[in-house]
Amino acid sequence: MPRRAGTRGVSKLLELAMDKRCSTCGAEYPATVDFFVRGKSCRGGIAGTCKRCANAYQNSWKARNRDRYLARRRILHAERHRESERSKLRRRLTTDHLYHRARILAAGVRCRSRELGLPVTPGLVSTAALMEWLSRQKDCECCGRAFITAPAFKGRAQDLSPSLDRIVPALGYVAGNVALICWRCNNLKRDATAKELFRVAKWLSTLTQSEVACA
Ligand SMILES: [Zn+2]
Ligand SMILES: [Zn+2]
Repeated sequence: MPRRAGTRGVSKLLELAMDKRCSTCGAEYPATVDFFVRGKSCRGGIAGTCKRCANAYQNSWKARNRDRYLARRRILHAERHRESERSKLRRRLTTDHLYHRARILAAGVRCRSRELGLPVTPGLVSTAALMEWLSRQKDCECCGRAFITAPAFKGRAQDLSPSLDRIVPALGYVAGNVALICWRCNNLKRDATAKELFRVAKWLSTLTQSEVACA
């Protein structure tokens, strides 16, 4: 019995050293995984098809099933790079937030000026200019509280998010008419004039019993 096992071992070694004929193209190559496709269930762990034939088949399959192939690649890519994409997004939301805040503000300027036909001084409220402005001015010009430039999660505008105010709304985004104030102040002011706001403040302050007046 041990003799038989030994013979089998030797023949296996011989087999491995010998050339092997590809079942597809008929070419002979050494019977190793360098030349043949791996096959777990095949004798010696290598399949009958040579690597060249396998590659040619794979390439022609890809060409014939381009859409399927690309769809599969997209799924694989998403699975493989999910974590790195997420951390990229996280970084964008945390460290690069000034840039993103500036982009949001610049996009708002473009949108509103187009919608309302407002004049814009070129370069005054570009992303680059706004980024510079945001890095220079950290507090609301109106209430003096520090801006929060980190992202407002779930799209909710935070009271202390920076916003661009057109001092006289109809004049647009021109030099001398733009202020960087917090969202809360901007929302309270809207298109009100100083006179109107004084009137509201004066009236509120007379309501001594009111909780609103004391806050
Ligand atoms: Zn072949
Ligand atoms: Zn403010």
